[in-house]
Amino acid sequence: MGHYGRNYIAEDERMTNKQAAIKIIKRLNRNGFQALLAGGCVRDMLLRRPASDYDVATNARPGDVIKLFTRTLKVGAKFGVVIVLLEGQQVEVATFRTETGYTDGRHPSVVDFTGAAEDAGRRDFTINGMFYDPVKEKVIDYVGGKADLKKKLIRTIGKATERFGEDYLRMLRAVRFSTQLRFAIGPATWSAIRSNAKNITKISGERIAIEMEAILVNPNRSAGTSMLAKSGLAKAIFPGFTSERVKFAANVLGRLRKKVDFALALAAFFAGCPTEYALKSCRILKLSRSRNRHIKFLLTNRGKLLDDKMSLAELKMVLAGPYFWDLYELQRAIQKAGPDGKEGIAALTRLRKRIKALGDIELRPKPLLNGHDLIRLGAVPGPALGHLAQELYIAQLEGKLQTPQQARHWAKSWLQKHRMTEK
Ligand code: ATP
Ligand code: MG
Repeated sequence: MGHYGRNYIAEDERMTNKQAAIKIIKRLNRNGFQALLAGGCVRDMLLRRPASDYDVATNARPGDVIKLFTRTLKVGAKFGVVIVLLEGQQVEVATFRTETGYTDGRHPSVVDFTGAAEDAGRRDFTINGMFYDPVKEKVIDYVGGKADLKKKLIRTIGKATERFGEDYLRMLRAVRFSTQLRFAIGPATWSAIRSNAKNITKISGERIAIEMEAILVNPNRSAGTSMLAKSGLAKAIFPGFTSERVKFAANVLGRLRKKVDFALALAAFFAGCPTEYALKSCRILKLSRSRNRHIKFLLTNRGKLLDDKMSLAELKMVLAGPYFWDLYELQRAIQKAGPDGKEGIAALTRLRKRIKALGDIELRPKPLLNGHDLIRLGAVPGPALGHLAQELYIAQLEGKLQTPQQARHWAKSWLQKHRMTEK
């Protein structure tokens, strides 16, 4: 395919992440190194589940890997991790290693390059600790991962309390894998989570958020939330998250559609909490500005859609926002989870009818004045013109302005107030 150039390779002809990883393994093998697929992708292959990415583990040192491949990223070379870029794919190639000297429950202080067996031993759970040799087509399992896959069990490799003591995030990862795979957590692993749950606060909000997202966007999110509660992790992460609130959360989460955005799921997670508390709790997760805005919209507008007396202008305003249907979905789930059960959605059905009756033209009416009109009135082209146009449109949606004449009058006084006219 080379002579077409990369831009002309059709989607289905492009090398997959798996093919790229195998090509890398073969090149490492040809140069005398042992190289294997490792971790999550082996687990997912055995479960016949699509893997998110294929990681390579090898006895080649980062320096060797960098020499063998033309395009690499040396992000974690010190810890034995190099990213190899091949045919538009990025593959993590990691040197077999052990990690020791955890003192803070987060970071290892010493990394030693070792063999495959030792590398398996540093991984978190038995089902995540296997290798696969794609050339010999053989699973290499030093940790009893295959047996636990059969039993549908999440168990730490080695003593659970020790392994969590090295990195407390693993507790949340256990709940995450249990949610995603619908596997049980082994008894020793579970009791170690319960007794160490408080230590999750040693982990950064960003890392907690990644696991929370994986739990809450998964269709099995309701069970995941109950697990977060029973383990004590939910309360440790969000102080004040009472069992009553968790119960309601699990109920609401279970009623959302299968595929949801993290923001909607998180709003549902906090559906049984006061808005102030929920927003404060979200701060712990260090979410992006736009995600926070999304969640805030959903939480502060709870209940609004149930109001039959909502004015037309107000309805148009909520509808014009980007998260309207998420709000609708959240409210629907809250109603179903509430004391009235399915009866509770009657108000939403009425709202839907009302929206349908409005039609598209009513909902997004043509602006009474366009940009040219505003310039003719004396507005100077630039960002301020945009603000004027926006405020004018809002006044129109609110029903304050009905005719172009009223709009011109309104725009003129706006311009005077903002001293934007040229005169
Ligand atoms: P996913 O399919 O969600 O990517 P994964 O199992 O590949 O799941 P990653 O976070 O991508 O999980 O990590 C890759 C592998 O690295 C894991 O399978 C596990 O062997 C190891 N690993 C990752 N995080 C940890 C950790 N905190 N402690 C120990 N081993 C870990
Ligand atoms: Mg992975």
